[in-house]
Amino acid sequence: MKGMIKEPIKLIAVSAMAASLLMCSGVLLGTQSENAQSAMIYAGAESVSVPGITGLKAERSEAKITLSWDEGDYLGCNVMMYSGGKWVKKGQVFRKSSTVLTKVPLDVTRFSVTPFICDNNGKYHYGETVETECEFIPELAKVTGLTAAETKDTSVRLSWSPVKYADGYGVFLKYTEGYREVAKTAGTSYTVTGQPPSYRRHFIVKAYYKTSDGRIVYGPASDQLKTATCPATVSGLKASKSTYNSITLSWNRTSCSQYIVYQMKNGKWVRIAKPTTNSYTVTGLDNNTAYKFVIRACKLDDYNKEHLGWLSNIVQVKTAKNTITTKNGVTYVNGILIANKTYALPASYNPGGLTKETYNAFVEMRNAASRDGISLWICSGFRSYDTQRWLYQSYVNRDGKAAADTYSARAGHSEHQTGLAMDLNYASSWFDNTNEARWIANNCWKYGFIIRYPQGKQNVTGYKYESWHVRYLGKDLAKKVYDSGLCLEEYLGITSQYNY
Ligand SMILES: [Zn+2]
Repeated sequence: MKGMIKEPIKLIAVSAMAASLLMCSGVLLGTQSENAQSAMIYAGAESVSVPGITGLKAERSEAKITLSWDEGDYLGCNVMMYSGGKWVKKGQVFRKSSTVLTKVPLDVTRFSVTPFICDNNGKYHYGETVETECEFIPELAKVTGLTAAETKDTSVRLSWSPVKYADGYGVFLKYTEGYREVAKTAGTSYTVTGQPPSYRRHFIVKAYYKTSDGRIVYGPASDQLKTATCPATVSGLKASKSTYNSITLSWNRTSCSQYIVYQMKNGKWVRIAKPTTNSYTVTGLDNNTAYKFVIRACKLDDYNKEHLGWLSNIVQVKTAKNTITTKNGVTYVNGILIANKTYALPASYNPGGLTKETYNAFVEMRNAASRDGISLWICSGFRSYDTQRWLYQSYVNRDGKAAADTYSARAGHSEHQTGLAMDLNYASSWFDNTNEARWIANNCWKYGFIIRYPQGKQNVTGYKYESWHVRYLGKDLAKKVYDSGLCLEEYLGITSQYNY
């Protein structure tokens, strides 16, 4: 400061000013109360008048504060700021009517200027302190990175990225009438509690700045976060039905429309299905085997992200044991004659044609179809062991063994040898999309038949889809198999694979 003063300073009400100049400029600043005190004491003693400060104003940006006031007849001014509950010195200016303050914390809003003069004895005389206020109210950025860090059945934990200058964040939840603030928090995460389970919820978060007079100034809203609470725990899981190879699970309905079914496999819960009703049939199981299942409800949010409830009770169920018997080389599973890739008929087995029951059932079906304007006929019924051997060999000669095995049975393995199966109309895949094929698929069970090699079951039946091949089971069993949606192997819990 010393070096800056190059010309004599004009002092009011002070005589012999010149002598004191260098001394004055070397004097340390006092506190505001000291300033006032010394000014008062001096005033009492000698009645020195210090001109007042007028026109004091302050402007603030993020980095600096510019204080300015009207020029006046004083030597200089002490500049102070109110910080941490008390006034602290910030600087001293000589013969200037403005100053720039830097490194002032953003929460400091009050500043004061006290003018002083110096007499010829080197004594300072302080004038009245004038205050001004100014505050930096930052433009807050939009909150980004808003996510549902965790969803539970009655709560959602939100988190987001911090915003510079934010004193806190407002969490807003969408109601029918619009967004409403549900919480203010200082941190960058918040758990909204007391929410209904299995419910879609939309949130936004805004940063806010708290002004010195207590006003809350919000920044812009984050993007909407669309999430959901988790469903309640599913209760009452039980096995309502079990067969040789299927287990039907059922449970109490919840407000949720989706469930996830888990099956214990090799010591781990493996997700196997996502039904939308409160029951599910697990198929393709082994007979006489224990299985464990558990489920949980699932709520999808607007992005189709899953929010899962807690796991239900665990059920352990054993599939029924099927009974496989052999009589004169013919295999019966639970009393049903079976010929497939696993179970062969002996060469001697020969009913001589379609069984009477099978043929009569066909006639009944044919007549019903006819009433619907559908014409059905048998293109291939009974085939003997020898016929099948010749037929299969001719396919092998034409297409090779591997290909032939996908559509033709080896001798002894053909269902046509049972006298219980037949091909209708045309034994060719072009038949699949005909009205006749559709009629058969929809109606044959009513007359005791099933589509023996359904679509999508090639790895179970061992054969490609055959829309024309039906197997007679009798009306009761045909309806049960049809209703189950299973192929015969699945229904009986057996395989169909060549062992040679
Ligand atoms: Zn056939």
